[in-house]
Amino acid sequence: MLLQLKHISKAYGQKESDTYQVVLDDVSLDIEVGQRIAVTGPSGSGKTTLLNMAGSLDKPDQGQVLYMDSDITGLKGKGLEQFRNQAVGFVFQQHYLLPQFTLFENVLLPTLPNKNAKEAGSRAEDLIKRTGLWDHRNKKPGELSGGESQRTAVVRALINNPAVLLADEPTGSLDHENSSQLFDMLIEFSRCDEVALVVVTHSQELARRMDTVYSLKSGKLDMITE
Ligand code: ADP
Ligand code: MG
Repeated sequence: MLLQLKHISKAYGQKESDTYQVVLDDVSLDIEVGQRIAVTGPSGSGKTTLLNMAGSLDKPDQGQVLYMDSDITGLKGKGLEQFRNQAVGFVFQQHYLLPQFTLFENVLLPTLPNKNAKEAGSRAEDLIKRTGLWDHRNKKPGELSGGESQRTAVVRALINNPAVLLADEPTGSLDHENSSQLFDMLIEFSRCDEVALVVVTHSQELARRMDTVYSLKSGKLDMITE
């Protein structure tokens, strides 16, 4: 198994205070190599919290996160940095491209800690060409459309060849056509490069394009299709 959440619980606020809220209640999720998963659920149901646990951006109160069978729940320092930079890629509702850099430079940013600049450059070129963004490579984010910016954010998330891409409402600010194109691209990369996908979306239509659809509600994660 690639990535596993095992009996994860997470609450916010002080116990017995008014703000105490259990967001994830004994949630488990297995992610296989190359598997494509959609997570749906009402706003505030804990989808972002769940992705943050999977990507080690936040720690559970209880339970474990395993990456290729090793426990990464308590990972700190260099090990944690390496997991976040190499094993997983992140895409959010906003693209978070840096405005002062070109599309090409933005894609290369996550490779800066690595040493092999030449290899990174040719991988960036390959990915940008595969997404049809090559003609835009020297543009700054301000000169790109919403769809182009979000596709660039996906390429940037894939530049270090992660095993899993975690996407938190990646089409939340796109229209129907651009959303569909972004999903085409995610599925294409997942198929060719065996990248596992965990995609949070409000769209049932888009969710159904993944292999497995889960619904998160009242702290519980249920599989709704297989
Ligand atoms: P979703 O992504 O499904 O909309 P979130 O995971 O963002 O849900 O949030 C789940 C619940 O946890 C919400 O009620 C939210 O207000 C609360 N929450 C999220 N992050 C924090 C935090 N850092 N501190 C306190 N409450 C939080
Ligand atoms: Mg969210």
